[in-house]
Amino acid sequence: MSLIESGLFKPQLLIDGIWSAAADGSVFAVENPATGEVIARVADATPADAGRAIMAATRAQIAWAETSVLERSRLLRKWFDLVMLNQDALAKILTIEQGKPLAEARSEIAYGASYIEWFAEEARRIYGDVIAPPENSTRILVIKQPVGVVATITPWNFPNAMLARKLAPALAAGCAVVAKPAAETPLSALALGQLALDAGIPAGLINILPSTHAKEIGEAFTSNEQVRKISFTGSTAVGKQLITQCAPDVKRVSLELGGNAPFVVFDDADLDAAVEGAIASKFRNAGQTCVCANRFYIQQSIYDTFCEKLISAMKGFSIGNGLDNGITIGPLISNRAQQKVQALLDDAISRGAKIACQAMQDDSWQAGHFFPPTLLVNVPTDARLTCEEIFGPVAPMIPFETEAQVVQFANASEYGLAAYLFTRDAKRIKRLSDQLQTGMLGINTGLISNAMAPFGGIKQSGWGREGSRYGLDDYVNVKYLCESFS
Ligand code: NAP
Repeated sequence: MSLIESGLFKPQLLIDGIWSAAADGSVFAVENPATGEVIARVADATPADAGRAIMAATRAQIAWAETSVLERSRLLRKWFDLVMLNQDALAKILTIEQGKPLAEARSEIAYGASYIEWFAEEARRIYGDVIAPPENSTRILVIKQPVGVVATITPWNFPNAMLARKLAPALAAGCAVVAKPAAETPLSALALGQLALDAGIPAGLINILPSTHAKEIGEAFTSNEQVRKISFTGSTAVGKQLITQCAPDVKRVSLELGGNAPFVVFDDADLDAAVEGAIASKFRNAGQTCVCANRFYIQQSIYDTFCEKLISAMKGFSIGNGLDNGITIGPLISNRAQQKVQALLDDAISRGAKIACQAMQDDSWQAGHFFPPTLLVNVPTDARLTCEEIFGPVAPMIPFETEAQVVQFANASEYGLAAYLFTRDAKRIKRLSDQLQTGMLGINTGLISNAMAPFGGIKQSGWGREGSRYGLDDYVNVKYLCESFS
């Protein structure tokens, strides 16, 4: 079945349950990063469209907040079922606009859907509280109410999952959403919108505004009084701008921002497990995840052995168009991304780092934005790639001697999203769990994301948590009722 026949290829705006063109009729091209081919011309939302979407969401939210949690739960569950039923078509859309291999795209669809399933269940568990009052003639009750209209802005690296993990808790809590997906990858978001309509989720609750006018759409969201919350996933720089824009209205803000994950391997670790964790954490999505291992700290006595094992595992990569069989590493998202990763690599080499392994360039890469997986040794601690997000398949190896030294290295970052620790020493696990300054820590594993766990960072990696029972907190207001019986 072709994508058109699947009914999920929707290159338009979704406003109030209706697919429409942009107010000024403009469109923009979306390209396949593996081939450079234009795969769609998508309606390019303007601030006027954002205004229309916010009005629709405001109307829809009032009615939605009145529905029972059971009804919300059932509709979310139906949406989850439809997403999983259409996993293959959604994965294909994801691969052609984002570049990740089809197998990874299928995993992302299941991962995104797991948040819809989880919040379909959590919708039934929006508990309040009864609190002991200061005197017996009063009763203190706490109820949770939906925040209202939520605006979401999401990036291109997980165009399905990053949006699903905002839409699902928002709807479960009784909110409506206006969503701006990344301009590079709008089609996955729009397909999710179609399936929400098919599931019977009422018109106006999910509005989707693909646009190349990110700044203007962001301002249309933050300056509109009807929007009571912004939920953003993306770079720390844009997150900071949005905080400033939300200040005048004191809008609530949730932020999932950049990371700089340290990956620490001690000499008592299971090295094969550490290599497996390194492959998953560093090279998934061609190194373009916010929780990617960004800096490898390897204890001196096992440094050479670990590097050799990792190089041997990297030789098994198959790099190319994600639609082709057996491909394990796809392209980067854009030419700009390629240039940034190359600049970080050049900087490290100019400071003394050496390339110990780099995949051979292939002619079939010419039209796309491929970057060869690379392992760097002798990386000095002042190289730019130890403090900036690489967002590409480059693994810098840095030796360390002592636990105290590596804790200092790991914490020397303004980011605090994820860290990874490989050791068999239980007491060391306890000490580093306390000392490492991140929101998430993978202990003897390189894979940490799932819908049941609270995903999020500290320091400049963000505010709030997505997934888990904490994931609803960002979409509800706590109201305290004081009843007097005197
Ligand atoms: P980005 O430039 O911040 O873009 C993210 C989103 O913000 C896109 O939809 C983008 O639209 C939009 N945007 C850009 N400028 C804006 C502005 N002035 N006002 C409002 N919206 C604006 O980030 P990116 O480079 O695409 O994405 C990668 C970043 O996301 C990395 O730093 C990564 O670590 C982070 N990330 C974090 C998490 C997490 O959970 N912590 C998860 C995934 C990614 P356009 O695409 O149209 O420019």
